[in-house]
Amino acid sequence: MSSITPPLARRLDGLQSSAIRDLLKLTARGDVISLAGGLPDQQLMPRDRIALAAEAALLDHSKLQYTESAGWGPLREVLSARESARLGRSVPVDEVFVTHGSQQALSLLSEVLLDPGALVVIEDPAYVGALQVFRAAGARIVAVPIDAEGMRIDALTELLDRGERPALVHTVSNFHNPRGVTMSPDRRRGLAELADRYGFWVIEDDPYGELWFDRPSPEPIASHSPNVIRLSSVSKTLAPTLRVGWLVAPNAVCRGVELLKQGADLCGSALTQQIAADLLADTDWLATHVDRLRRVYGERARALVGVLRDRFGDRVVSTDASGGMFVWVDFTDGTDTTELLPRAIEHGVAYVPGSAFAVATAYRNSMRMCFTTSESATLFEAVDRLARAVGE
Ligand code: PMP
Repeated sequence: MSSITPPLARRLDGLQSSAIRDLLKLTARGDVISLAGGLPDQQLMPRDRIALAAEAALLDHSKLQYTESAGWGPLREVLSARESARLGRSVPVDEVFVTHGSQQALSLLSEVLLDPGALVVIEDPAYVGALQVFRAAGARIVAVPIDAEGMRIDALTELLDRGERPALVHTVSNFHNPRGVTMSPDRRRGLAELADRYGFWVIEDDPYGELWFDRPSPEPIASHSPNVIRLSSVSKTLAPTLRVGWLVAPNAVCRGVELLKQGADLCGSALTQQIAADLLADTDWLATHVDRLRRVYGERARALVGVLRDRFGDRVVSTDASGGMFVWVDFTDGTDTTELLPRAIEHGVAYVPGSAFAVATAYRNSMRMCFTTSESATLFEAVDRLARAVGE
């Protein structure tokens, strides 16, 4: 008897792995310089310091045990002190909730804050990981464009004036992935005011804020309104393998997240959370470590932006890369970056075409380049190869 295949849930309809992701699998070839990934440099991750912290943590059996769903107590204490300093107000420990990377915070928050069909405003181009989460939650998604000062608050205001009522606005406020820009202080205040006036949530998704090169990132949006939920993570400053992210939110939101986290995975790892607590509390060591990241990534960013201007002149406009991990490049000569990609890979260089991040605008002439994992000489070679691929 042939077996009847049972169906998968309808929520999977329309979710798909992208053709671009499949193409980028080719970049695992050793001869391709890939600026497509979005990874921090593992050579700069503090392996020895993590080993010391792991050894110290394992002296105590409690790190082998289940821990609280909201996170290992000592880590939440450290985070509450850090977030209090960052936000300029006292953040109580029960408003800090530790998640399995900030990606899990996005996923749990989408369940806590959104009913099916709820309106979610996201930035265009978008952080694809957020787009996936909101689509899976069955949200209605509307995009607001970004310019050099971050999310266009005038476009959001127009939307509200038309009678749209978002449940949630998602923004990557510092060194946007993929767009590279940082939201200006005026727009931060403007967004917070709208959130207060219309009563919607804002998720300020901030994994890159510490990675500034010249001057610190502006005051968080969450400093201006209780309706702003702040997310951050140690993935870009310490190591993604720790899977330590967190959210700062009003108590009622944290308790909702707690209920859902229990269903998702009971709790995170007391071991990696203790390692993160140890490193974050070692403030002198941390300052030196993060300074080094800023210096090395800053050099690479300047090298990439410099060589792009050198080789392409006014045929491209790129972000300045004043922090984070990405440079966003717009071709002004009509070069189609999706069509170019196979040829670029043949020439030994890969990037992510703008279309991979597109929500409402196509971004056919744009690309995202990640500068963190290549030294300057490699970045020069990558752009030389790109210039040859474009020239053909
Ligand atoms: N938000 C943004 C904007 C990101 O770029 C990333 C990682 N690429 C994440 C969240 C998730 O990071 P993690 O889960 O490692 O904290």
